Amino acid sequence: MFRLSSFQRSSLISEIQSKTFDLLVIGGGITGAGIALDAALRGLSVALIEKNDFAWGTSSRSTKLIHGGLRYLKQFEFRLVHEVGVERRRLFENAPHVVKAERMLLPIVKNGTLGKFTSSLGLFIYDYLAEVESGERRKMLAKNETCKSEPLLKKDRVTGGGLYYEYRTDDSRLVMEVLKSAAAESALCLNYFEATGFTYNAEDKINGVKALDQLDGKAYTVSAGIVVNAAGPWVDKLRNSDKGEDEKGKKLRQTKGVHVVVPYSRLPVKQSLYFDAPDKRMIFAIPRQDITYIGTTDTFYGDDLDFPVTSKEDALYLLNAVNSITDGVNLVQEDIISSWAGLRPLIYEEGKSPSELSRKDEIFISSTGLLSIAGGKLTGYRKMAEKICDLVCSTIENKRHIKLPKCKTINHKLFGTKTFSIKELEEYIISKKSEAVKSGIHPQIIENWVNRYGAETDVVLALFNKINSEKINTQLKPFIAELRYCVNHESVHTLSDFLIRRTGMLYFERNLLAELSRPLNEELSVLLGLSAELKKKSMDEFLRDYDQALQLK
Ligand code: FAD
Repeated sequence: MFRLSSFQRSSLISEIQSKTFDLLVIGGGITGAGIALDAALRGLSVALIEKNDFAWGTSSRSTKLIHGGLRYLKQFEFRLVHEVGVERRRLFENAPHVVKAERMLLPIVKNGTLGKFTSSLGLFIYDYLAEVESGERRKMLAKNETCKSEPLLKKDRVTGGGLYYEYRTDDSRLVMEVLKSAAAESALCLNYFEATGFTYNAEDKINGVKALDQLDGKAYTVSAGIVVNAAGPWVDKLRNSDKGEDEKGKKLRQTKGVHVVVPYSRLPVKQSLYFDAPDKRMIFAIPRQDITYIGTTDTFYGDDLDFPVTSKEDALYLLNAVNSITDGVNLVQEDIISSWAGLRPLIYEEGKSPSELSRKDEIFISSTGLLSIAGGKLTGYRKMAEKICDLVCSTIENKRHIKLPKCKTINHKLFGTKTFSIKELEEYIISKKSEAVKSGIHPQIIENWVNRYGAETDVVLALFNKINSEKINTQLKPFIAELRYCVNHESVHTLSDFLIRRTGMLYFERNLLAELSRPLNEELSVLLGLSAELKKKSMDEFLRDYDQALQLK
């Protein structure tokens, strides 16, 4: 049975409390997942614990781009742009099923932040720093070419534009693919398992954590030689509960970022747009199947870290930004069909505005041995993991007088990619689509599966073929097959785990959920043997998330 199967939970819990791990990672977002994979590939025994579902924090609430951060050039962050820019292509090659090239249009507008010369120079430097391949380098457009590329733009404001490439992903899927890769290398990854405190040896060095199983309320201790705190926006909460001292002067400062989703028919952009809001901040509008999502805001946040919400003000700011650059679109609040809000765990710098705070990552080392890592971006997760694993390995090498391997993730294909090249993956999608037609599945569903699970689509298809004879509503069957896959391979314990973080359906296919959510919850409770109380809890939590995605506070 796969190590991330929901059915493996009790055996994983027995294992986690009986072993002493080389490394324990706290936090199942992209940072923690990347560290678990890097360390497992170097041969360390690794456990990762996440207090909610995997990717429940910021890593399911981003703009979902693998990008170098064009706007950071304005802050002269050349090193950062180079580092994450180069990572884009690596991630694309290592996981082409979850990382896709995305054409972007940067319109140049009257009184905008960037003029024609600065846009062209900026995109040129961006291509150079990110080592962009010739076919994907920037192309500057005249006014008429820009308006042809995007007829929705206000013709009297546009003076030209630039076409360039970024990459698009599905953030929580990327986390899952990294975790599955780590689990395939023997890492033990548990969701709904919260670190509630640290344990120390006689010299006041950390030697593990106290933990709480969030599904049944039982308490445990987990022993490890080294503990890494990769808790995203919660990093300081854990640092403050450690009795050691580090550079506590340096703190996190959370900023909130909101996205709203509208039907594609209301904002039918021909490619992704990266444009100036009236206050000169830069905003994305990204089309995706039947919807377009718009984001993001960037405001300081000091409220409940667990439940950031989209305010009416956030939403109207984004709609207004779109309306200010487009002709005849006039988005209104009623157009919003979903939304999400996330928190950036950034390093505080005196006197800087939210957008000026650096997106660089930073490591804090406590006198107790606790290593904390925060800041950074989804795109740079592999490099962040490499940095902290180098530190972990050198500590172990000094203690045990051994030599450990260097980082091995640079060319490591993620789980669903197996050994596919980019071209082979394209051929795979075509062949699976024709198989789907024969099995009676809509080709779009198959494409979604390949984009989510890569080569594992074969396993989902086999599950579908197995249930094809069962007495299940035809429309429901592919979703039941997918749910069964996720329970067996991706530690799904609640309906929200499946509909939000495994499939993104709450944001991108919300129209299907009124009909699908109850039967899927029914199936989930049968699969997991949930009591009537837990079944209701799973449904109620989903309904809360479903409402929250539309409630503007
Ligand atoms: P998280 O994803 O928050 O993970 C930390 C995890 O730790 C959480 O799941 C939490 O539940 C868990 N945890 C906390 N406390 C405990 C505990 N005591 N025990 C166990 N687990 C615990 N980056 C990009 O590259 N591209 C983008 O397009 C992009 N867009 C963004 C848009 C927005 C609005 C935001 C907010 C960020 C964006 N980013 C983007 C940045 C990127 O999303 C983050 O840098 C990244 O997701 C942070 O990942 P993380 O693992 O450090 O934190």
